[in-house]
Amino acid sequence: MARIGFVGLGNMGAPMARNLLKAGHVVAGFDLVPAALAGFAAAGGTAAASAAAAAAGADVVITMLPAGTHVRDAWLGSGGMAAASRPDAILVDCSTIDVATAREVAAGAGRPMLDAPVSGGTMGAEAATLTFMVGGPDDAYARVQPILAQMGRTLVHCGGAGAGQAAKACNNMMLAANMIVTAEAFVLAEKLGLSHQALFDVASKSSGQSWALTSYCPVPGPVPASPANRGYTPGFAAALMAKDLGLSQAAAAGAGLETPLGAVALALYTRFLEQGGGGLDFSAIIRLLRGETLG
Ligand code: NAD
Repeated sequence: MARIGFVGLGNMGAPMARNLLKAGHVVAGFDLVPAALAGFAAAGGTAAASAAAAAAGADVVITMLPAGTHVRDAWLGSGGMAAASRPDAILVDCSTIDVATAREVAAGAGRPMLDAPVSGGTMGAEAATLTFMVGGPDDAYARVQPILAQMGRTLVHCGGAGAGQAAKACNNMMLAANMIVTAEAFVLAEKLGLSHQALFDVASKSSGQSWALTSYCPVPGPVPASPANRGYTPGFAAALMAKDLGLSQAAAAGAGLETPLGAVALALYTRFLEQGGGGLDFSAIIRLLRGETLG
């Protein structure tokens, strides 16, 4: 049993914190939204009065916040979490943020810190089947690994500070480009009089195969569990994909690298958001490619 501080009890953080409670840990949680805090207390957690109070006294302190500005402010700024935590505590940020901010916060925290973004979505958070991609020191990872394993199924220690965020940015850039080209292929097939199922049957067994096709097919039918079968309700919202593509483009720019397909993917998702598609699953990009009116 560990004492854990958990700040950010939203769509992802709430089920992750509940899994830590189920595993028998004592968890002090905090969120700016009173209803989120009340839900956490109802699940058996201790509602802290502030982010710093959640961090104080904990063996492991975890954040699951929207973006880099929130993470910097919570740990190093007005949230005061790093200063409030025990000198021997391990700090873990599970939010998806930019690599530069992850490194800045880790360097400024004065305690061992890991960046540990996740994939697997809210269903993975509920079922404790998330994938964690982790950056930071070996000894901190070794100490926290059993706790991450109670919220996830696959853990990969990717390297030093920022390596987890780098892995997340690279993975989601690949996912976005795969999804867009898969959707383009289905739209082309429609124009050529080729059925969705026929293209799926060929490509899923050929060199066009990808996770976007076989697990998350952007047309209804071939993969019954994909969001296309339920009107593109997320899943993984297009707005979050656009955010992640912004992070990979910022990382590429910072590294002096051109990532042309990543840039086009960001431009397409930005247009999709401008047309009102941000709340739809990211596979609904096929509707933009077909020239459909959204909303
Ligand atoms: P969310 O908006 O549902 O939750 C964020 C929570 O943080 C909110 O409850 C908000 O009130 C709280 N918060 C913000 N600032 C705070 C502060 N200073 N102190 C305390 N609480 C604060 O977002 P989410 O869907 O849970 O996503 C969290 C992170 O996980 C994001 O970085 C997102 O990109 C990433 N992520 C999300 C998914 C997904 O499917 N939702 C999947 C993988 C990764």
